[in-house]
Amino acid sequence: MRTHWVGSVFKVLFWLLLASVLVGLVTGQLAWALVVGLSIYLGWHLHQMIRFLQWLGTRRNEAPPDAHGMWGEIFDRIYQMQRRDSRMRAKQQLVIDRIQASTAALSDAVVMIDAKGRLEWWNHAAERLLGLRSPDDSGQHVTNLLRDPKFVEYFEANQFREPLDIASHLNLSARLQYTITHYGQGERLMVVRDTTRLHNLEQMRKDFVANVSHELRTPLTVVVGYLETLQDSDELINPRWKRALQQMQQQSQRMQNLLNDLLMLSRLENDDRNVEQHSVDISQMLKTIAQDARALSAERRHQISLEADPGISLRGAPEELRSAFSNLVFNAVKYTPDEGEIHIRCWQDDNGAHVSVRDNGTGIAAQHISRLTERFYRVDSSRSTHTGGTGLGLAIVKHVLLRHNGRLEINSVVGEGSVFTCHFHPGRLA
Ligand code: ADP
Repeated sequence: MRTHWVGSVFKVLFWLLLASVLVGLVTGQLAWALVVGLSIYLGWHLHQMIRFLQWLGTRRNEAPPDAHGMWGEIFDRIYQMQRRDSRMRAKQQLVIDRIQASTAALSDAVVMIDAKGRLEWWNHAAERLLGLRSPDDSGQHVTNLLRDPKFVEYFEANQFREPLDIASHLNLSARLQYTITHYGQGERLMVVRDTTRLHNLEQMRKDFVANVSHELRTPLTVVVGYLETLQDSDELINPRWKRALQQMQQQSQRMQNLLNDLLMLSRLENDDRNVEQHSVDISQMLKTIAQDARALSAERRHQISLEADPGISLRGAPEELRSAFSNLVFNAVKYTPDEGEIHIRCWQDDNGAHVSVRDNGTGIAAQHISRLTERFYRVDSSRSTHTGGTGLGLAIVKHVLLRHNGRLEINSVVGEGSVFTCHFHPGRLA
């Protein structure tokens, strides 16, 4: 193929030169004949070049004009390249169309956001769920259009490990879950799901638990009241019933604790609004909790010590924080053998405020640690029943900390003891 056009180039040049030489010899003007011959050759090339450029300027994939030799080869090759390129483009377009069609058909909103936080592309569901308008909103910063302060805070924090669940700005009774993932060079892909149905079901479950707990409270208070009266009238009771009465009172006390914890959890879960913003003196609060813990320990004679930097205050709900810290301290008393050591510490540094409760009690095996904050999760149910635990204490701690931008860290070694540490973000310091 290649030699074919190379040969033809030389053949044309050879015949042209031969003809020029012959004409030159016949006319006696050899030099002029050669100049004319070469000019004809050059003119032909110029003509082909102009046709070539004209052809390039026409629509893509239009068949090239007829040409021979080298120019025919150039036209053919470029035409083939153009066709291959077109076929590839068509294939890629088909893939893009299919991806766009399938994304458009999704019931979840999909939004592509560039590295500067501006909207690049979105599907139909995004128009329905988020009210984005195509093409007007293209290139707008995402927080100009989605202005819920919780979303703005979430987007600007740029930490997307957990999805964000908030009410829709278009319809306050609808709930939307935002999941954002980084990709490419700082771009972000946002997927928004309508979780209204799930949220309503979850709400029904929470309301049910809260209502049942609430309804059970009154009858139980009456039962406890009668049990106390009966126990107080010692002389009227048949001694055979004494032990039974004692157990009934213990169990009803457990049920009361359980109901109180369930109600507390429901309140923490249902209260979507921002947490109270009182300034809470943590050091002072821990002092009273340590005293309560000494009273709880009583004849078990634990050595309870407190080391608190003075004047550490957090913004938050005092009752919630008290409940979280006392759960940790009372757990330490419950799960540490008599005369064991419990050390409460509270300090502040660049990472915020921290409260830790260390004990040298039974400790917890590693496989349980990640599940401890689940409701009713107990390492050893017989031991918990014995200590009167509800299995809800650490779930309450976790919820309170979540509501106060905090997190719970648990370290424990079986037989050596445990350390429960609450870490609060510096923004929480009062
Ligand atoms: P409970 O009311 O049963 O104490 P919690 O949610 O407070 O429920 O704790 C869950 C489980 O974690 C407990 O049943 C116990 O097994 C374990 N636990 C909690 N604190 C400690 C501790 N300081 N030492 C050992 N185990 C603990």
